[in-house]
Amino acid sequence: ALEVTLRQVCLTIGWDLGEAWIPSLDATILEYSQGWYVSEKQLEKFIYNSINLRLTPSMGIAGKVWLSQELEWIEDLSLPLSPGFIRREFALEVGLKTALSIPIIIDDQIIAILVFFKKNQSQPEARVIELVKAVTTQLGALIHRKKIEAALVKANQELERLATLDSLTGLANRRRFNEYFYVEWLQLFREKLPLSLLLCDVDFFKRYNDTYGHLAGDFCLQQVAAAIQQCVKRSVDLVARYGGEEFAVILPNTNAKVAIRLAETIRKRVQALQIVHDRSEVSNYITLSIGVASIIPQAEIDPEILIAMTDKALYSAKQGGRNCVAIENLMTFQTSCHDTNVLSQPPIPSRQ
Ligand code: GH3
Ligand code: MG
Ligand code: MG
Repeated sequence: ALEVTLRQVCLTIGWDLGEAWIPSLDATILEYSQGWYVSEKQLEKFIYNSINLRLTPSMGIAGKVWLSQELEWIEDLSLPLSPGFIRREFALEVGLKTALSIPIIIDDQIIAILVFFKKNQSQPEARVIELVKAVTTQLGALIHRKKIEAALVKANQELERLATLDSLTGLANRRRFNEYFYVEWLQLFREKLPLSLLLCDVDFFKRYNDTYGHLAGDFCLQQVAAAIQQCVKRSVDLVARYGGEEFAVILPNTNAKVAIRLAETIRKRVQALQIVHDRSEVSNYITLSIGVASIIPQAEIDPEILIAMTDKALYSAKQGGRNCVAIENLMTFQTSCHDTNVLSQPPIPSRQ
């Protein structure tokens, strides 16, 4: 917007160079803005000499306007000016004679200072002053609106992020799980590729809470979540907190064999955390039971079937002794509900 405005103003009033200075974030110096306009190539030299300058208040015409907050008109740059006008030599070298500077003010704050130069010497002109004043007012309102819009976009992104994250573990939440699950189902339906799902449930977690307290339980869930996430390497895989002490892993384009292997890795990784759980019946430590299911999505299959299959596999893992991985097949799931394979037998707990 600045560049276009500077150009339009220069063309309208017949001036040769337009530039803008922006206060730094801490408002201690003015920096040269990206947008500028020159009427002829030779004047670019002046721009390149200015780009790296930093102006303190009262330094240069822009610095002076920064302090006074008033429009400034210098009719003849070749006349001796106050010592602060550091670019006088540059300006005269490229033939600039007259300068005009005006602040853009929003809510009593200067957000930019525009400076225009002209090659012909020129006295203050009411028409020109009126025009640049009108333009800076408009521009101020536009920048103000843009700032609000940018803040809104940022706030919305943050809201969206928060709305899809589980606050305790930092993983995706159930809402994000649902979204991603259906998106991937459709995608893999089109590609005729398998979608696998894991459901991981902490064993005897109620007893853990009862024994060590809810805070320790929370901390435990955070560690388990991080351990699961560490096992999942591909960016397309999604680890989510599915419910209280249940975690889901969506594995697009992954067959059952690979999914089972990953489930085993997760199971071992969590046990290796060695989070002491004295009242577990299957280990001295916190463990997971994991259900696995895999499907190539088809038009006649409801996506919910995959979730139901995984849930049934998890139930089998619990029935099969916990701290193990079980898988459910579509064929057997559809015909009967008793053919789940428990793949990893729970180790005999070695308790002292
Ligand atoms: P199983 O081995 O059959 O899975 O038994 P379990 O005790 O793990 O399962 P159950 O469903 O009986 O208990 C789950 C417990 O998880 C109960 C609940 O208090 C606890 N829980 C759920 N969400 C949270 C949480 O955010 N923080 C803590 N500390 N505990 C939670
Ligand atoms: Mg549970
Ligand atoms: Mg549990």
